[in-house]
Amino acid sequence: MKTVRTRFAPSPTGFMHLGNLRSALYTYLMAKSQGGKFILRIEDTDSARYVEGATQVIYDTLAACGMEHDEGPDVGGDYGPYIQSQRKDLYLPYARRLVEEGKAYYCFCTPERLEQLRAQMGEEYKYDKHCLHTVTLEEADRRIAAGEPYVIRQNVPTTGTTSFTDMVYGTITVENDTLDDMILIKADGMPTYNFANVIDDHLMGITHVMRGSEYLSSTPKYNLLYEAFGWEIPVYVHLPQVMRDATHKLSKRDGDAYFSDYTDKGYLPEAIVNYLALLGWSPGTTQEIFTMEELKQAFDIHNLNKSPAIFDATKLAWMNGEYIKAMDEKTFDGHVRPWFDRSAVAGRYDYTKLGRLLKTRIQHFDEIPEMVAFLPTLPDYDVALYTHKKMKTDPIVALDALKDAREALASLPVWDETAIHDALMALIERKGVKNGQVFWPVRVALTGVLSSPGGAIEIADILGREESLARIDKGIEKLNG
Ligand code: GLU
Repeated sequence: MKTVRTRFAPSPTGFMHLGNLRSALYTYLMAKSQGGKFILRIEDTDSARYVEGATQVIYDTLAACGMEHDEGPDVGGDYGPYIQSQRKDLYLPYARRLVEEGKAYYCFCTPERLEQLRAQMGEEYKYDKHCLHTVTLEEADRRIAAGEPYVIRQNVPTTGTTSFTDMVYGTITVENDTLDDMILIKADGMPTYNFANVIDDHLMGITHVMRGSEYLSSTPKYNLLYEAFGWEIPVYVHLPQVMRDATHKLSKRDGDAYFSDYTDKGYLPEAIVNYLALLGWSPGTTQEIFTMEELKQAFDIHNLNKSPAIFDATKLAWMNGEYIKAMDEKTFDGHVRPWFDRSAVAGRYDYTKLGRLLKTRIQHFDEIPEMVAFLPTLPDYDVALYTHKKMKTDPIVALDALKDAREALASLPVWDETAIHDALMALIERKGVKNGQVFWPVRVALTGVLSSPGGAIEIADILGREESLARIDKGIEKLNG
């Protein structure tokens, strides 16, 4: 059997859309689940869209996600170059071959004529084959030699139908007369995507073409090109779009749609990959957390979902939280440190202790700055915080608790979690009150917020004796006032 060869063929736009990344992932998993090769090809023939540094973004994203490519511009391979602009001179001879066989033709129509045609035909617009019928090959060669601008168009048959089978969408048949004579070579000499993808996929020995479903409707035209060249048609796997809701694509306009939007917020690439894997593919079990290795084992192209995948940011956040919880302490420390350094606690407190409080409480690291803001600066809170029905506290209970707690804590010989815990528990017992009637007021006095990572004991330990007592005094003062 032929070795499976798949490719990811992004255009370097500077950002990696999550839908694109998911295509890359499925393409990678398809190859890897079959012992095949995953190829990276950079599609940069649209020079107007060129963005400096954009190719690096693609390399970095794939590397961060653990999708190593076997061939590509940066790693080489037998089918290079892997950057389309560096293959520029290769496409024209193929187009010329089609011209000579009558399957493509030179077109000299001016933008004005095309504009007119478009205005006349409206929605039904397709090129009218004017140059096919009026310009002989000899005349075309003469005009080109004289420097006249031209494009090369595909000569699509006007009768009959074209059919193909897609692994996800099934058999698709179109009437040829609905297809446009698309441009293969542009006026600047560059191939269009429509032409280059066929030539490159063939020359690179791609067995499975996996890409977004937006290319589905053009695929019959690509097949006509394969047939014109007498080349084997690859297996097609068109992937449903990633949607924001039932009718809208996930787009930057609606908020976060790029990989970097999430990594900037402290999402883990592994979690993003895991989430995207399940967005449109099902393992056929209830398992939700997958390592890349497990995905490679489990992936099966037949379990791709045909319906559009609706992106669920809440689910992604949940999954990221699961990855954070599962981290060992050292890895977590490494991740959390830069977020502490960038927050109000920078350089203060015990990061490891602080990290322990946060590990099970965050879903993404960018929640941290806000969650720890109360540490260096006690917020100016309202005494209403001391009233809590379930904890059975109100300002009177709280004032009493704070006064006693202050006394119990002030005289502790050592200041650590055990000592603080024991002192407060002894106090609760002595007073014959509920735990919450002491812990809640103390926690409020220490944090000034309704909810904080950790309770009274952990926070008192992190703040230290002096600051904790000062905050309790402040609470007493507020409650007295
Ligand atoms: N360059 C195209 C894109 O970024 C690739 C489509 C394909 O995979 O063939 O959408």
